[in-house]
Amino acid sequence: MAIATVNPATGETLKTFDALNAGEIEDHLIRAEQAFQQYRDTSFAHRADLLLKAADLLDADQDTIARTMTTEMGKTLVAARAEAAKCAKTMRWYATHAEELLADEQPDPADVQDSGAVRAVVRYRPLGTVLAVMPWNFPLWQVVRFAAPALMAGNTGLLKHASNVPQTALYLDELFRRAGFPEGCFQTLLVGSGAVEDILRDPRVAAATLTGSEVAGRSVASIAGDEVKKTVLELGGSDPFLVLPSADLDKAARTAVTARVQNNGQSCIAAKRFIVHTDVYDAFAERFVAGMAALTVGDPMEEDTDVGPLSSEQGRSDLEELVDDAVHRGARALCGGRRPPDHHSGWFYEPTVLDGITAEMRIHHEEAFGPVATLYRVEDLDEAVTVANDTTFGLSSNAWTRDADEQTRLARDLQAGGVFFNGMTASHPGLPFGGAKRSGYGRELSGHGIREFCNMTTVWYG
Ligand code: NDP
Repeated sequence: MAIATVNPATGETLKTFDALNAGEIEDHLIRAEQAFQQYRDTSFAHRADLLLKAADLLDADQDTIARTMTTEMGKTLVAARAEAAKCAKTMRWYATHAEELLADEQPDPADVQDSGAVRAVVRYRPLGTVLAVMPWNFPLWQVVRFAAPALMAGNTGLLKHASNVPQTALYLDELFRRAGFPEGCFQTLLVGSGAVEDILRDPRVAAATLTGSEVAGRSVASIAGDEVKKTVLELGGSDPFLVLPSADLDKAARTAVTARVQNNGQSCIAAKRFIVHTDVYDAFAERFVAGMAALTVGDPMEEDTDVGPLSSEQGRSDLEELVDDAVHRGARALCGGRRPPDHHSGWFYEPTVLDGITAEMRIHHEEAFGPVATLYRVEDLDEAVTVANDTTFGLSSNAWTRDADEQTRLARDLQAGGVFFNGMTASHPGLPFGGAKRSGYGRELSGHGIREFCNMTTVWYG
């Protein structure tokens, strides 16, 4: 895949970039290693000053970088600004909390005594240079939620960003440098995915984090496994959105629309499968379909656009294939199901709701990475749980019920890294984020996220 900025709203190639050659990659690795040897000994207060400066710069650049993101991958400008703001907030959160999150832990005195020690502590030390392989869908956020904790922990980072967001990738490199991070602490490598294996096998790279498809995750995890290097994987999702009889249907339907089409439908934690109790199915479906059909599809730079284009022509044809396969096998499009007739250039697709889904359809098993929802009618809570868990994914989940017993059951039985009741699934700096099953492993954000790339060291004093 060429490293290039191609505007998804027009299909026009705006700028192309040369991939780094082997010598240039080597220079980056040398700088990363040298930077780590110095940076690992800096204080939390110093790192926090640098990260707070980065947050301030990002706030000042908000509109410019938002326009770059919208141009490169098609998210609405409104969403891109919100993404930049969330990144600055997360930088501030880690700048404020990292020292406390990584403070030495004191084991139980009885256990210390039992080990024969006079004293023992658990210390979180940085691991080294972490390779981040990141996707285009939240081109700032996916990187910052790795970089902010990694840099606060004393690690250095190498970013291999998706090939369609090179200008956002270069902006991030420059942002951390402008904030005062020493040279080599955070570097963008403009390389294709074919270069990842050698970089990951290099002894100067300690670990890797990847957000993206299952195929990419499996490849990076198997190489890292062969090298016995730690990985965190955040892969796809096909999150269920359960609507039960006690739900506030207006609010659930409004949230369902946002949850499905956020980021033009290209979010790993977007609700994708809407599983609705038969008693409220018709009432919910009517509201939901009306909401989806009323969305404005168009130029993502316009303030009143709800849904912009998909990020690539390939992304749109993958989505079209899933919808066509379902319709061919008997699903019904209650709205959408086609390209908007008035957009002749760009990779647009109409917000779509399908019902009559069966297990033979690809969309029942695969992730629909675009504004396409599937509706399922279920008879009771047991069937809702069965349908929700009938997927290889397990990223997050959403349930609308005010019944405390149902909430207890769902919090116990939904096979996912998150269960969100009566509100939209989202990531927050202070709450752990990550999946189960084939959605990956490890956690990002919160104290759990920052400790993923630390060497948890037992220090024992005899
Ligand atoms: P990819 O997984 O292909 O891309 C994500 C990142 O991984 C990019 O930096 C990409 O580089 C890199 N990459 C791809 N293949 C490999 C590999 N074999 N080894 C190392 N790195 C690799 O996502 P796509 O953009 O192709 O999207 C495909 C599907 O993945 C989507 O339809 C969606 O289902 C899922 N996805 C999920 C995301 C999430 O947030 N969980 C985000 C994006 C995609 P390059 O761009 O150079 O190929």
